Amino acid sequence: MSGNRTLTMVKPDAMRKNHGGAILAKIEEAGFRLVATKLTKLSLEKAGEFYAVHKERPFYGELIEFMSSGPIIAAILEKDNAVADFRTLIGATNPADAAEGTIRKLYATSIGENAVHGSDSDENAKIEGDFFFSKLEQF
Ligand code: ATP
Ligand code: MG
Repeated sequence: MSGNRTLTMVKPDAMRKNHGGAILAKIEEAGFRLVATKLTKLSLEKAGEFYAVHKERPFYGELIEFMSSGPIIAAILEKDNAVADFRTLIGATNPADAAEGTIRKLYATSIGENAVHGSDSDENAKIEGDFFFSKLEQF
């Protein structure tokens, strides 16, 4: 059975363009409930920890520099089939390939600066949710 929670981040590019609120509104309109949310900023070290799976990829350095370059909104979201439905809502990693109406099509700039993160599995959704939020902060 698929899980019902996922973890998102509104990335620094979208925050710099003042799109944080619009993106959260789109997420709620699509039927996701906010279980936890905070405005925060990742240190280079914390960004490296979050994206450790990509350590060997050529874009890793650029990715963690970017993700620690400014504030983000982190949020745990709840909905049936949350991981897959949220990835449909945000669209392809590269906004040039993202479907019309998706968050990345609307707000992303490039494959690196792509406005939002979405967990890629139920297992990672749990790990990533617990990375940002204590049990007491998850409603
Ligand atoms: P995310 O994990 O942020 O939701 P994703 O699952 O669509 O994105 P991943 O393959 O997990 O994509 O890559 C993680 C992030 O690394 C991407 O969102 C993007 O910001 C960055 N990235 C991926 N591929 C490239 C690339 N070729 N060049 C630069 N940055 C990249
Ligand atoms: Mg990913």
